[in-house]
Amino acid sequence: MILKAEGIVLKTFNFRETSCIVTFFTKEHGKIKGVLKGIRKDPKKFGSHVDKFSVNQLVYYTHRNNDLHLVSHCDLTSFFFLIRKNLRRTLAASYALELVDSIMPTEEKNIKVYQLLINFLTELEEIKDINRLVHIFQIKILSHSGFKPFLDSCVVCQKHIVPSMKFSMKLGGLLCPDCFANDRDARIISRGAIASLTHIESNDWKKALRLKLTQPVQKELKVVLNNFLVFHLEKHIKSEKYLSAR
Ligand SMILES: [Zn+2]
Repeated sequence: MILKAEGIVLKTFNFRETSCIVTFFTKEHGKIKGVLKGIRKDPKKFGSHVDKFSVNQLVYYTHRNNDLHLVSHCDLTSFFFLIRKNLRRTLAASYALELVDSIMPTEEKNIKVYQLLINFLTELEEIKDINRLVHIFQIKILSHSGFKPFLDSCVVCQKHIVPSMKFSMKLGGLLCPDCFANDRDARIISRGAIASLTHIESNDWKKALRLKLTQPVQKELKVVLNNFLVFHLEKHIKSEKYLSAR
């Protein structure tokens, strides 16, 4: 079968002498893997160098018993030049790509996550506060991919939120003082941080972007979100170096 798609390059590696295997996150078919034959010998064969986080128009042939497809056309549509000019922006983009690659199952369409990644990359070209943007991205991808944190009340006893709640990595939600005693990994979370999480989760991208995060709240979100993501993905994201270097 021949398929067309718009896809963001998540990762690439060299294959045999002249080819490349590329993982794309596509708008139409989710995460796919394709081989671009001969691209290293004859780069002009394709209208793209398949650089990480570039957006491309693809044509590819699917195989019935193999998830490695044959890409026949790949034309660049967005390059995000301003991200590439700056190391911190490039690292933040790499982190987002790794997160999408780790969270999203193969060949499962998710238009919300696709649009989120496009919005993130577009904003990342010029935004001043990169850390805040990364937090908004983390919160949004969690809620669009089935890991939405439970923030309405205590996840165990349903008691209302009180000033001293913790966030449980294991249960993905808030715990009250009666319930957090047995959860060693749970982290303290302030009301301000809970309110910020809820605001970002429940509003659209544009509105979420307008939310200001104070330094203490950013610090808390960094700990809670990074630990929660690591716990659920059961591995460390390599480009997390970006996050710890902040
Ligand atoms: Zn409780």
